[in-house]
Amino acid sequence: MPTPTRPPTARLPSRMLPKLRRDLLTWYNAHRRDLPWRRTRDPYRIWVSEVMLQQTQVATVIPFYHRFLQSFPDLGALARADIQVVLKHWEGLGYYRRAHHLHRAARKLVDSGGGRVPDRHRAFKALPGVGDYIANAVMSIAFDQPWAVVDGNVKRVLARLGGIGDPVNQAAAHRVFQQTADCLLDRRCPGTFNQALMELGALVCTPRRPNCPECPWQAPCFARQNDATAQFPTRIRRAPVPKRAMVAGVVCHRGQVLVVQRPSEGLLAGLWEFPGGRRRERETGSAACGRLLRESTGLSVTAERKLIRVNHAYTHFKIVLDLFLCRKAGGRVRLDGPQAFRWIRPAELNTLPFTGACKKTFAQLPLERLCRR
Ligand code: SF4
Repeated sequence: MPTPTRPPTARLPSRMLPKLRRDLLTWYNAHRRDLPWRRTRDPYRIWVSEVMLQQTQVATVIPFYHRFLQSFPDLGALARADIQVVLKHWEGLGYYRRAHHLHRAARKLVDSGGGRVPDRHRAFKALPGVGDYIANAVMSIAFDQPWAVVDGNVKRVLARLGGIGDPVNQAAAHRVFQQTADCLLDRRCPGTFNQALMELGALVCTPRRPNCPECPWQAPCFARQNDATAQFPTRIRRAPVPKRAMVAGVVCHRGQVLVVQRPSEGLLAGLWEFPGGRRRERETGSAACGRLLRESTGLSVTAERKLIRVNHAYTHFKIVLDLFLCRKAGGRVRLDGPQAFRWIRPAELNTLPFTGACKKTFAQLPLERLCRR
């Protein structure tokens, strides 16, 4: 059955807007969660929280947010920090590009003399990693400026409320949701209103089984009226995420294990991992391991046995990583690809920031024992 939708002109008629705003704010005042970033107006702290919350659940973010601000309580502290220390604080949160951008932006602001978060949208948006969402969120929440935020939660609520059939995962449709959010925004309290809308999406108008009886917008909601909440939002079908076969080697020597640091640009920039790479088609795991270690580290190794397999998902692909126990047969480390290497005792591994896939292997590997052999 085709999804019933409303024509653009009938989505949110202006006569409905004052009541929609009032009802949402009343609901928010009664139900808002007490989250650490809601206790501050410090733009730096709000910025950090919004960056962490992109792609990550609130419950996951909270401990990272506290640890991060304990170590880097202001822009100056973040700008002075070594990127490796910043990445270590980000380890486990994923999407490490966010940490690189935040760090670069802090340095830029401190170097440019001001050392403050700009209160002008255009200046703030010119910083590394600051797109429309972050700029609108920080400008509205920290400075009470009338910028409407549009994230996944907001799109879902607006699609259901207004009967908007444009796919939420299509770049061209973003403008439709942004315009709708701009119309709906309560310009007397934009920061609170933005948070209220996102909170409604997080707590009530959830992706599956929205709790419509508890919703302040149940009467005007198009999806609710048409018994079509499951049909909104719509999405375009994407090609399945490709899977890559990867291998890596655990090379132990005198009680230490070899780890390498990824290049300073690109995917997972600056993070550490066991040396390895992508297996070729029809290549066995052990042969790939020998080849990749020779190519990337200059070491000649024999892959003795497979230790473990881990699966890990990135934004645009998934990996299946086979980890092999390797015996060093000769050669000295000469890197081609990684930017640095270390022979390190297993107990000291937690001093470096590692890729998520590599971190997963630590919990399952008896590294101390393997390195004592
Ligand atoms: Fe979402 Fe239901 Fe509220 Fe509509 S009534 S906005 S579907 S929770």
